[in-house]
Amino acid sequence: MNAHGEAEDESAHAPFDRYGAVTHEVINQPVELADFNLYDSDAALKDGVQREGAEWAANSLGAFGGRAGSAAYLELGALANRNPPELDTHDRYGRRVDLVRFHPAYHELMRTAIEEGIHSSPWTEPREGAHVARAARFYMQSQVEAGHGCPITMTFAAVPCLKVQPDLARDWLPKITARVYDPRNAPAGEKHGLTIGMAMTEKQGGSDVRANTTRAVPVGAGGPGQPYELIGHKFFVSAPMCDAFLVLAQAPDGLSCFLVPRWRPDGTKNPLQVIRLKRKMGNVSNASSETELRGALGWMVGPEGRGVPTIIEMVAMTRFDCMIGSSAGMRRAVAEAIDHCRQRKAFGALLVDQPIMTAVLADLAIEAEAALTLTLRIGRALDHREDAHEDALVRLGTAIGKYWICKRAPGHAYEALECIGGSGVMEDSPMPRLYREAPVNAIWEGSGNVQCLDILRAIRRSPQTLEVYLAEVQAAKGESAALDAHVTGLKADMRDLTDFESRARDLCDRLATALQAAALIRAGSPMADAFCRSRLESRGAHNYGALTGVDARAIVKRAAAR
Ligand SMILES: Cc1cc2nc3c(=O)[nH]c(=O)nc-3n(C[C@H](O)[C@H](O)[C@H](O)COP(=O)(O)OP(=O)(O)OC[C@H]3O[C@@H](n4cnc5c(N)ncnc54)[C@H](O)[C@@H]3O)c2cc1C
Repeated sequence: MNAHGEAEDESAHAPFDRYGAVTHEVINQPVELADFNLYDSDAALKDGVQREGAEWAANSLGAFGGRAGSAAYLELGALANRNPPELDTHDRYGRRVDLVRFHPAYHELMRTAIEEGIHSSPWTEPREGAHVARAARFYMQSQVEAGHGCPITMTFAAVPCLKVQPDLARDWLPKITARVYDPRNAPAGEKHGLTIGMAMTEKQGGSDVRANTTRAVPVGAGGPGQPYELIGHKFFVSAPMCDAFLVLAQAPDGLSCFLVPRWRPDGTKNPLQVIRLKRKMGNVSNASSETELRGALGWMVGPEGRGVPTIIEMVAMTRFDCMIGSSAGMRRAVAEAIDHCRQRKAFGALLVDQPIMTAVLADLAIEAEAALTLTLRIGRALDHREDAHEDALVRLGTAIGKYWICKRAPGHAYEALECIGGSGVMEDSPMPRLYREAPVNAIWEGSGNVQCLDILRAIRRSPQTLEVYLAEVQAAKGESAALDAHVTGLKADMRDLTDFESRARDLCDRLATALQAAALIRAGSPMADAFCRSRLESRGAHNYGALTGVDARAIVKRAAAR
């Protein structure tokens, strides 16, 4: 019998001669996970979409899930990473072009994401559950390939930031939100669809953007919406083929935000020059560049000197997308691990049935479902920002969720990879890509410690965010003794925040696990009890598989993709 359970063709084995021998039969190797529906096979996703207000989108999400899980579509993710982007700074006759060339698979992923509205649907079609439906779609698309998600996210996230400057928004938003992918390196006026990047990080200061040295000089009177020329550099500019970038630079009255196009309105190239592409350990399909601004034209977005509060509108949304992306990576990893272990035998039994492995797989599934459940809960909050509770939950919950979910992803990817054994390390498996991708979300858009400081800032500036947080977790009061005790201890330790920084990791970890526990309990997830036991009650350091007293088999069954 082969791995599919089919009878082997006997004539394939004999007779053979000394030189043309059939050396062996390939047995006990899994059939790879492909041609399955990423939506229908994901119980936690389906439950979440229904629960958080996007039930109306279930049919179209199911249709997209079928397409995204097809072998041909999954292959696009592999191809886009096996063939990294290349930069041509000049054409063959020496003219500056700043052209990034991508494999057709990358373009296909971009086209699909944009045609599916992942870059814009909640803005163009706002309704109950719009953010949740978009998050679900992006979660499936990210399981196929994460790198192209960067320009998709930035384009999506630029919208609230640009709305701060209505004149620019009027000119730019129709093409930014259009469901048209137009990858041409041409002036915005000639194109049918536009993508947007962001350029904050400089060499001398990444997290600390106030250390930026790039200068912005007014061309005329200056002020919001007015043209400036920017001189300086940016050390990280991802997706440099975007049509324009939101850039932070020092104007006469302080750090300000600018919209800097690739081409000037007169059809000449704007001197935002790409110096080189970064060589990255992960996120390979996405081009990330170093650039210099040599008098590049940009228009001021928002008030002069208010660059950080203006661009924060964008950063808040990119952080939410980091939660989606890391949740997606975990889902793909655990689906691959379970699928493998359901087919692979060792020592006479399927791996999935061997108690230590069952516990490891269950634990990975718990982590992935907790990540998704919190993400979709925040998605619902984004859909209801007119409600003060939901708005405050977006503020604090996104900071906590971005910090924690992204930080959990690398260890999760590693453990899932190990479930697959040696083949999990091989480049023809999706696991190395998931593993190398995992740290990136934790670093950009606010690295771990910076997120912790942001959590403190949110609580200090608006103490009601902590009250909202506590109301959110206490809504699950009485459902889990472990959670109740955890929250009591946390409240006591949060009473005095004077030495928060030295205790920040401990406090933020506990804030995060309590929020996930409450989200799982309130969602009625079958993972809730196991999450509380393993994350809130655990003895010593928690390692994957250190589960006791939970129905690990049932958990694995729920998380299996087929
Ligand atoms: C693949 C990739 C793509 C990127 N794309 C873009 C892009 O398109 N646009 C863009 O603007 N940036 C981009 N970045 C840059 C990214 O946002 C920065 O790397 C990030 O903000 C951290 O800045 P830094 O690298 O200068 O590190 P630093 O700011 O030097 O931080 C180093 C470490 O110190 C910690 N730290 C910082 N301050 C404190 C503190 N006060 N207390 C304790 N710890 C602290 C941080 O958490 C971090 O762990 C990208 C990065 C990567 C990896």
